[in-house]
Amino acid sequence: MTIKTRFAPSPTGYLHVGGARTALFSWLYARKHGGRFVLRIEDTDLERSTQESVNAILEGMAWLGLEYDEGPFYQTHRFDRYKDIIQQLLDQGDAYYCYCSKDELDALREQQIANKEKPRYNGKCRDAGHALKEGAVIRFKNPTQGDVVIDDLIKGKIVVANKELDDLIIARSDGSPTYNLSVVVDDLDMGVNVVIRGDDHINNTPRQINILRALGVEPPKYAHVPMILGADGARLSKRHGAVSVMQYRDEGFLPEALLNYLVRLGWSHGDQEIFTVDEMIALFDLEDVNGSASTFNNEKLLWLNHQYIMNSDPAHVAHHLSWHMGERGIDPGQQGPDLTEVVKAQRERCKTLVEMAEASRYFYLDFESYDEKAAKKNFKAGTDEVLRHLLEKFSAIEQWEGEALHQIVLDTAEELDLKLGKVAQPLRVAVCGTAVSPSIDITLSLLGRDKTLTRIEKAIKFIQDKYSE
Ligand code: GLU
Repeated sequence: MTIKTRFAPSPTGYLHVGGARTALFSWLYARKHGGRFVLRIEDTDLERSTQESVNAILEGMAWLGLEYDEGPFYQTHRFDRYKDIIQQLLDQGDAYYCYCSKDELDALREQQIANKEKPRYNGKCRDAGHALKEGAVIRFKNPTQGDVVIDDLIKGKIVVANKELDDLIIARSDGSPTYNLSVVVDDLDMGVNVVIRGDDHINNTPRQINILRALGVEPPKYAHVPMILGADGARLSKRHGAVSVMQYRDEGFLPEALLNYLVRLGWSHGDQEIFTVDEMIALFDLEDVNGSASTFNNEKLLWLNHQYIMNSDPAHVAHHLSWHMGERGIDPGQQGPDLTEVVKAQRERCKTLVEMAEASRYFYLDFESYDEKAAKKNFKAGTDEVLRHLLEKFSAIEQWEGEALHQIVLDTAEELDLKLGKVAQPLRVAVCGTAVSPSIDITLSLLGRDKTLTRIEKAIKFIQDKYSE
C-alpha cells in the first residue's frame, strides 16, 4: 500500500513553526515510505481565510523545500462534493436537520454548566424527523453505544466512549460544511491513509472516525503531534519572538538549519544533533516522536544555524546570503568580491546570515563614517604616517594577493618599529570602517586594489583633518 500523508493548513495567517513541523513530519513520513504527500488548503472559513495567507504558506513550504506531490487542493472548490456526502448521510439516516435556535442551545449550555455537566447537544431533534427548513443546521447522528479506539502512532491507544460525544453539526444553516465533515471527505477522496496533525485535533478524531464508518469506510491511521511550548511553558506564540517560518529567513537562518531544528523538536535518534535531509528521511519514524509537548529553544536553533553556516557548501550559503545582500541594496554579482569567498572568510564569526550580511557590507559599499570607538582607538595623531607608508607599498605591488599584502603589513611594522597591531588595526579601520573583519590579508584580497587604496587615502585625510583642528 502506498503511504499518503497530507498537510492541511487553514490559510488564516502565516506558516508558523508548529505547522511547519507538522508538515515536515508528514513529508518525511511519506518520503521515507516512498509515498505521496498532499497539500490541502482548508479555506472553508471564508471570513478568516485570505489569499495572502495561502501565498505565505506556499512560500514557507517552498523555502523549506517541503515539496508536495499532489495539490494544493482548495476546500472551497469542493463544496458540491461535501453537499453530496451530507445528502448521502441524510438519506441513509445518519444525519438530521436540527431546528434548535441559538438561544435554546445557549440556555441548554448554561443549564449543563450549572449542573456541573459537560456541555453537549442533548439530541432534541435527533429523532424528530424534521424536514429542511430555513435556518436549520444538519447534525451527524453519532452512535450512542460502544467506544471509538484510536491506535495513535505517536500517543498510543486512545479510547473514547461514544456516549461522551454529541451529535456534531456537519452543515451550517447556509448549507456550508463544517471542518469535521470536509476533512473526512477530503481524507477519503484524496486517499490519505496516515493523518499526521497537531494534537489540538485529537478531540475531533473519534468524531471523524464515526463519520467515516457511517460512510462505510475504514478510517486512516492517525498520529497526533504534540504542541510546541515557549521557554515559559506557554504555547508558542508571537510573544516568544519569531514564529513565522519566513521570519526565520528574514532573521538569517538557513532553511536546512530550521528543518533540522524542527525535526529534533520532539523526535530524536540517539544523541545525534545534526541530520542532513536524507538522514532525516532514512531515520525518522513516528514511533520515536515524543508524546508530550516540546519546548522551543532559540539558542539551540542559533547554534544549529551556525553549524550549517560553517559546514555547508559555501556556494550554497552564498546563494542564501545573496538574498540578504539584495535586501540591503547590494548586488554581489556587480559590485564586489565573489560572495562565496566572502562566506568562507566570514562563516566562523557569523551565526546568522543577517550578521554575515551586515559584517560584509564594506566589501561592496563605501561607508560614510567610521565606527566611533574603533576610530578613536586606532586613528591617533601620526597614524596617517603609518597609512601613508602602507599606501605607498600597496600602490607599488604588482599582484594583489594575500601573501604579498600580508608581507607589506609585516614590513611596515618592522620599518616603523611598531607592533603589528599598531599597523594592522588602523589599516583595518581605514578600509572596513570597523575594527572587526577577517584576517587582514583576506580582507584586503577581497576588497581589491581600488577600494583599498581609495579608502586608505580617505582615512589619511580624515586623520589629518582631525588632528589639525
Ligand atoms: N486545517 C486544520 C488546521 O489548520 C488542520 C486539520 C487537520 O489536519 O485535520 O489546524
